[in-house]
Formats: sequence, C-alpha cells, structure tokens
Amino acid sequence: MSKRKKGAFKAGFVSIIGQPNVGKSTLMNALVGERLSIITAKAQTTRHRIMGILTGEDFQIVYSDTPGVIKPKYELQKSMMRFVHSSLEDADLLLWVVDLEEKYDPTHPLIDKLLFTKIPMVVLLNKIDLASGTQVKDKVHHWRQHLEGVSVLPISALKKVNLDQVFKSILDHLPEHPPYFPADSLTDKPERFFAAEVIREKIFQNYKQEVPYSCEVVVTEFKEDEKIIRMRAEIYVERQSQKGILIGKKGAALKKVGIASRKDLEKFFDKQVHLETFVKVAADWRKKQMRLKQFGYSG
Ligand code: GDP
Ligand code: MG
Repeated sequence: MSKRKKGAFKAGFVSIIGQPNVGKSTLMNALVGERLSIITAKAQTTRHRIMGILTGEDFQIVYSDTPGVIKPKYELQKSMMRFVHSSLEDADLLLWVVDLEEKYDPTHPLIDKLLFTKIPMVVLLNKIDLASGTQVKDKVHHWRQHLEGVSVLPISALKKVNLDQVFKSILDHLPEHPPYFPADSLTDKPERFFAAEVIREKIFQNYKQEVPYSCEVVVTEFKEDEKIIRMRAEIYVERQSQKGILIGKKGAALKKVGIASRKDLEKFFDKQVHLETFVKVAADWRKKQMRLKQFGYSG
C-alpha cells in the first residue's frame, strides 16, 4: 500500500472540525480509545481545543477536538473560534464531521477556509446508525457532488462503524516524522483540566437552559497520594440568581453534581476521589477578557 521504508515513523496532527453537535468529541474519544472530551446532547459543550494522542509502534496521531463552528456572539465564543482556527493551521489532515441533517452550505462560516485549504481533508458523514442504507447513499452522493476530489466516509462514531476506515485514511495522510510527544502521553492538557471538564459535563447534564453555559469550573486543588486524590473545585457563575439555582434547595442540586462527578472522576483517574465544590459569582465572566484569561481562554 505505501512505499515507506520499513521502520520509518509517521506522526502528525489531525483536526476534527464541524458544526456543534455532529459528534466530534464522540469521534475523538472513539479514535483515541479514552474518554478525553466531554460529550453531551447540548451544543457548544466543548470550549477548548483538546488534544488526544494515540501512539503505536510506528505512528503517532495527535488529534484535536475543537468547539463547533459558530458565529461568535460574545468574547468566550470568539476565543472558542480562535481554537478552531489554530487547529486548522497546523494540521496534516482535517476530519470534517457532518451529520445526516447537514447540507452543503456555501455560507458556512468556515467553508471558504475549508474549500481553499491546502490541508488534505476527509468528510465524515456521522450518525449513519440513525438512517437507512438509501438515505446514507444519497447523503454521501450529495457531499461528493459538492466537494470534488474529497473522500466522503459514512461512519457512526457512537456505534464505532467504519472507524477502521477512518484510521486507515489517517495513516495514509501522515507524513514521516518522529513522534511529537512521549509515547505514553495521552493528551497535552493537565489532569486538573480533565477534572474540571468532568464536573462541567455533570453541570450540563443536570441544569436547564442558560445555566450550564454560564458556568466555568476551576480545579484549584489537586492533591494525589497513593490511595486518594483530593480535589477542590470552584464553579463560577455569572449572576447571584444562578448561584441559587446551582446550589438548589438545601444544597441538593449541587450535591447531585458532586456525587455524579466523583463517580466519573474515580473512573477517569482509577483512584478514590474526594471532591469539594464551591460556587462563586464572577459577574459576566463570558464577556470579560481578564476572567477569560484566568480561565485559560487566552488563545
Ligand atoms: P460535538 O458537539 O460535535 O462534539 O458532538 P458530541 O460528540 O458531543 O455529540 C453530540 C450528540 O450526538 C451526543 O448526544 C452524542 O451521543 C451523539 N452522537 C455522536 N455520534 C453519534 C453517532 O454516531 N450516532 C448517534 N446516534 N449519535 C451520536
Ligand atoms: Mg464537542
């Protein structure tokens, strides 16, 4: 299949991009085989660029999961889009994820970039587990018609259908290059970051409407000894009224988030976890540069 010399190592960056909710984080987790990115049924849960690293005997793939492509309305979203743009610039391959609903749209905020990029691209038509064979065929045809020369692969990230094809096509596109990260690294982000993301996921799952979008989680303490990890997490909301909602009657709502988070954190770190949570108000933090910087969005 490939002409490369035996023993030549391949390594490169693969960026996963697309509209909110099409399954980008599900795909990255499936490809890396770990649960690195939080997944919820709500749009815009992924706020940062999250790298997932997969190293094999003769290859290393550095995936970037990105926030969905949107037209930014406030500072936080602008920063989210900077993460998207940065992962377009240094990639060796783009995985453009679309779902069954989506149609080729020339007014898509990134379509220009995608059409004229010199970076090779594969379109992944996701969620085919929800459609009939004919529907899938029609959709694949639709994308092939509009994007000449681009390969279109039907997949299901959730049911892990055709992911071996995706993997094969990634390997074909990787340049010969020594590894970028040590073989045992899983991600470029520190443990605290993932701890905060797990808690954020639980907030998305437990509250309605605007509240989760107004929350940011900062893990301010992360102390690990042989048996247990002790964590302290601060949850920031934008207004006093949201603080009340988050905590709930007699603290019941926050307790639920704490218990669910701890369960997942124990799975993630494979260790007993002690978690303390505090709710704080940071007025309008999503619009404030200083706060965004403090929360790690100065991308
Ligand atoms: P992202 O916003 O693009 O990162 O999307 P997520 O990975 O967070 O997924 C959004 C929703 O779509 C979640 O409820 C997923 O479980 C669901 N989803 C993702 N991939 C598939 C798939 O292949 N099939 C089905 N049926 N659902 C999927
Ligand atoms: Mg996501």
